[in-house]
Amino acid sequence: MTIQNSLTIETARLRAAHIDTPALDAGILLAEILHTDKAGLILHGPDSIPEGDNENFRSRINRRLAGEPVAYILGRKEFRGLDFTVSPDVLVPRPDTETLVEAALQELDSVQSGADSNSRISVLDLCTGSGAIAIALKNECPGLEAWASDISGAALSIARANCARLLHDNAVHFIQADLFQPFQNPSSPNAAFPKQFTLIVSNPPYIPSAEIGGLAKEVRMEPSLALDGGRDGLDLIRRIAREAGHYLKDNGILLMEADPRQMDAIRGILLDNGFREPRLYKDLAGLDRVISGTLNRESK
Ligand code: GLN
Repeated sequence: MTIQNSLTIETARLRAAHIDTPALDAGILLAEILHTDKAGLILHGPDSIPEGDNENFRSRINRRLAGEPVAYILGRKEFRGLDFTVSPDVLVPRPDTETLVEAALQELDSVQSGADSNSRISVLDLCTGSGAIAIALKNECPGLEAWASDISGAALSIARANCARLLHDNAVHFIQADLFQPFQNPSSPNAAFPKQFTLIVSNPPYIPSAEIGGLAKEVRMEPSLALDGGRDGLDLIRRIAREAGHYLKDNGILLMEADPRQMDAIRGILLDNGFREPRLYKDLAGLDRVISGTLNRESK
């Protein structure tokens, strides 16, 4: 059996099962086994494939047929040029969420040019999952102080490991928390907590509960904790908007990812909770995917 034949057979199995991108998925899964890339697969197409590699490839295709996302099969996903470890304990970082990082950098730029240069820029990433947003921000903006929290201990282990491997151990401070809960307690043993942040970012769960069952099979393999946003999908977004003001500096910024159809409602939620000038950012499909607001507190 040649590499090309094996690839053709397995691609056809994915296509027959109506997988969206059969050739792409099969190519990625085989290239990794053979320690090569797409060009290498073509170049070595006529070579024969070792029996064990072919079996391994076939079993990966079987996992894909059962609905597992390619990222879980590989155990990693690229985000903002970094190679993140992922598992079914965390949401797979999406290209659309790169929009959130881009927006955060733009917002930080505008804060930095207005603020006195002595105050350290600090960022908190809520519902961090694999740590992708916080780690990418710290990587691209090394001067900032980065904090991240998640309610899931299993997710945090992955986030911490990603941070240690991609940056260094303490590049981002990770804490297990239900949103702001550890920051509320002034007698907290961790005195190093910043009381107030320059920027709070989040890609919270925002899918309405009733829509979870209708999601693509591979999305349903992701943790529902990272997807299910309650009846209208806005449970976490409402809580974040309500509480964020206590943990932001004057003119601090809250930036969240959500579904484009939720943006009007979130604009209202932000205005009701003391944020001004809600701003929208578009994802790769040209849809409003990220919304930000500036905390409307008079300077002291
Ligand atoms: N963008 C994800 C999806 O549509 C949802 C992620 C989330 O709820 N934060 O699959």
